[in-house]
Amino acid sequence: MKILIIGAGMAGLAAANFLANEHEVTILDKGRGVGGRMATRTLGTAIADHGAQYFSVQSDAFQTFIDQLLAEKIVDTWQLPQRSNKRFFGSKGMKMIPKKMAEKLDVQLNEKVILLKDNIAFTETGNEYAFDKIIITIPIPQLKELLQNSAININETDEKVFESIQYEPCIALMAVLKSPTQIAGGGIMLENQPVAWIADNFQKGISPTPSVTIHASAEYSKQQLENNLTEVATEMLQSVEKWIPAEQIESFQVHRWRYSLASKRYEQAFYQLSESIYLAGDGFGIGNVEGAFLSGFELAKTL
Ligand SMILES: Cc1cc2nc3c(=O)[nH]c(=O)nc-3n(C[C@H](O)[C@H](O)[C@H](O)COP(=O)(O)OP(=O)(O)OC[C@H]3O[C@@H](n4cnc5c(N)ncnc54)[C@H](O)[C@@H]3O)c2cc1C
Repeated sequence: MKILIIGAGMAGLAAANFLANEHEVTILDKGRGVGGRMATRTLGTAIADHGAQYFSVQSDAFQTFIDQLLAEKIVDTWQLPQRSNKRFFGSKGMKMIPKKMAEKLDVQLNEKVILLKDNIAFTETGNEYAFDKIIITIPIPQLKELLQNSAININETDEKVFESIQYEPCIALMAVLKSPTQIAGGGIMLENQPVAWIADNFQKGISPTPSVTIHASAEYSKQQLENNLTEVATEMLQSVEKWIPAEQIESFQVHRWRYSLASKRYEQAFYQLSESIYLAGDGFGIGNVEGAFLSGFELAKTL
């Protein structure tokens, strides 16, 4: 069977890994690299995870998968002082996990799917990909746009599924520092502030030179999402001066994530929209990195 997957994030890659042995699987992603929200950026000599920072492992299926990556030293563990259980992260950056997963797969990058018609996906570059089944793992607002462009009708049940899924935005700031921070354990969660999280990428072990990732809170991100990002970043940095004094900062970059965490999700791990269209991703099931994996994994088992 010809299976096309839209999205080379955790959900799409997990599904592809389990389906590729028995089916002809192609993944399309609009990005320049794989990983989606498991993103790592290079800033000169520094490296910063700027999407997901770490993840937890609760299910047996995900544990088995992560154990293999731990053995290969692609994944490492992180004990944050404010968390009772250890967390997991890509030892050389989050992106290394999806990169490893994509190694033996047919992934076509810079391919934004803009239209689905008669079991063919049309991309912005003018290419066409025929399929028997398609798995779409993109955030629901982007999916709705794609379905609308494709004149695919949505019934009331589908609409209810879509309405049950919501995402929080997040403004992420990556700063190159002149020296490492003194943040104990390399990460700190803050409450009732513009900033919700600071990670020291140097202490975390992914960056050879000092850098931090600073995430704004969901509330602050919502308020500031459309505002000038340099001004927003300046306010965020002022609010964390206690941990990162202005004179320690060499440079910074800001990224606007319109969809970061799926704060509300459809309870099942995936959804069948039509005879040939299936939906998966972190909006389905338990959410986060693990939920995205399980969504792709469960759908692959069913297919
Ligand atoms: C700032 C931030 C912090 C986070 N923190 C954590 C955390 O601490 N712990 C945790 O577990 N999770 C965290 N997450 C959430 C976690 O990253 C996601 O739940 C998970 O990575 C989602 O995977 P996915 O495959 O469902 O979606 P994505 O990773 O979003 O993958 C979807 C892919 O689809 C592609 N795409 C979209 N539209 C199209 C199109 N039309 N054509 C082709 N390709 C398309 C995108 O480029 C993307 O690569 C965080 C996310 C962000 C952004």
